[in-house]
Amino acid sequence: MRFCLAQGLLDQGRVAGDSMTAFRRGSCRFPGCSAQVPLALRVESVCLDHFLESTFLRAERTMQHCQQGLPLRWPALDWLFSVAEFTVRGLAAQTGHLSSVQREKALELLLCLANIREYIRQRSIHITPAA
Ligand SMILES: [Zn+2]
Repeated sequence: MRFCLAQGLLDQGRVAGDSMTAFRRGSCRFPGCSAQVPLALRVESVCLDHFLESTFLRAERTMQHCQQGLPLRWPALDWLFSVAEFTVRGLAAQTGHLSSVQREKALELLLCLANIREYIRQRSIHITPAA
């Protein structure tokens, strides 16, 4: 059981990682950015750098809301802990394809997500179901 779970996580990382080396047609949706969009980020339509940057800003904003005792929106949390975390874990598993700056950002982001998760676990943060 433990092996299956670990293997499953490794496979997920491999899938996300492989889709980081293939690109979809078109460029990043951020104004002025002509970088390619990895297949793993085709739904977000952003390049890797902008994905890391925008996700980090979202995570930081979420952490600030936690610290200020403001309610959190479930869709935003769900996105952070599913799409974002899965993608970043995939990236972290494929360190050979990342620059040192991207690798540092990915690890910093994972730490930030872990801090948010821990903060929510330790305190009673109000989570609203919709926007
Ligand atoms: Zn971009």
